[in-house]
Amino acid sequence: MEKIQMKTPLVEMDGDEMTRVIWQLIKDELLLPYVDLKTEYYDLGLVHRNETDDQVTADSAEAAKKYGVAVKCATITPNAARMKEYDLKEMYKSPNGTIRAMLDGTVFRAPIIVKGIEPYVKTWKKPITIARHAYGDVYKASELKVPGPGRAELVFTDASGSETRELIHEFKGAGVLQGMHNLEASITSFARSCFNFALDTKQDLWFATKDTISKKYDHTFKDIFQDIYDKEYAGKFEEAGITYFYTLIDDAVARVVRSEGGYIWACKNYDGDVMSDMVATAFGSLSMMTSVLVSPDGCYEYEAAHGTVQRHYYKHLKGEETSTNPIATIFAWTGALRKRGELDGIEGLCSFADKLERACIKTIEDGRMTKDLALITTLENPQTLNTQDFIKAVRSTLDSLL
Ligand code: NAP
Ligand code: MG
Repeated sequence: MEKIQMKTPLVEMDGDEMTRVIWQLIKDELLLPYVDLKTEYYDLGLVHRNETDDQVTADSAEAAKKYGVAVKCATITPNAARMKEYDLKEMYKSPNGTIRAMLDGTVFRAPIIVKGIEPYVKTWKKPITIARHAYGDVYKASELKVPGPGRAELVFTDASGSETRELIHEFKGAGVLQGMHNLEASITSFARSCFNFALDTKQDLWFATKDTISKKYDHTFKDIFQDIYDKEYAGKFEEAGITYFYTLIDDAVARVVRSEGGYIWACKNYDGDVMSDMVATAFGSLSMMTSVLVSPDGCYEYEAAHGTVQRHYYKHLKGEETSTNPIATIFAWTGALRKRGELDGIEGLCSFADKLERACIKTIEDGRMTKDLALITTLENPQTLNTQDFIKAVRSTLDSLL
């Protein structure tokens, strides 16, 4: 078979530990033999981030803005232990945080569904994609312990110095206080990313807050979404045969559990934090969750939702066999290749991405899988493969499909 040609490079963001090992295996076994792979390579491995004072992370985000599509390997977010392990000059910020801030993007997480790995919720047949607003609210709040009786107020001082006040509470005894905020600009970007991604994936969009209780704060989220929808997206949604649906957060939770899946659920920051863990766990496995960062102006960065699988890497370094699941990382590549194919009009690239995904799913459904899945599958007599052998098994399935 002739290799599929690409036009525009993908922005390739390499990473750390076991996922870095898998990254290379995926390229060698599943991509390079079939695609004349064009990438602009950025090494976000912690060693190179340290060498460049983390400049490489910012450079890679700029490249993502320039080209529009990136694929990222999991990376270490430094903590005290990593400072020592890698002899770091500084405790660098999470690369994902840096890239997300530079792209002003929203993260969409969705599970990969295969027969034999059954969701705990029996009605779920299709993926539920969670979109989490990643700015503000309780994550950027100021807090205070109230020692005893007194009056608490919200005070806003405008540019000319005039104050607006709102009573929070007349404390008769000790208590606690919290002040949080959000920005119209950030909520607007969040809304646009969600509407664009819904159109892109032809899925309904659900959004929920507690606007009946929070009549100014949450209501502003609801109003911004509705306003942008009415002005910019209503027609496009109708044309695509999808709907935008707003409800209260508690009603949304009840509907989600009774649903079949197959939609995007947009959540405020805290709701998204909690619900993404709930949905991921209920679908069965962290190693089967994909993640894509979408900017309001249409840049895409694809990755696996899991981390660098440190424990497996240490085994790998000792020469021990590992059985690490590469599926979410493979789907990061297929997501990026398909998007590149769509943007550049390369049909062959899109259909290759589809086939590689089908090969992954078929390999598992045929009973060959990594240990994490073998432990939870409902298939009888699953064959547990090590990291390398599983990737080779996917390759032979892929060859049979091509
Ligand atoms: P992790 O890498 O997601 O792994 C946690 C555990 O989940 C693993 O030890 C393994 O369980 C299981 N697991 C996750 N992915 C798997 C896979 N593909 N195949 C098989 N099992 C899998 O989280 P972590 O160990 O807490 O974090 C390691 C590093 O990743 C940290 O330095 C963190 O900063 C970084 N991280 C990066 C990202 C990102 O770049 N997006 C996200 C999260 C964390 P068993 O050990 O029981 O087999
Ligand atoms: Mg969480």
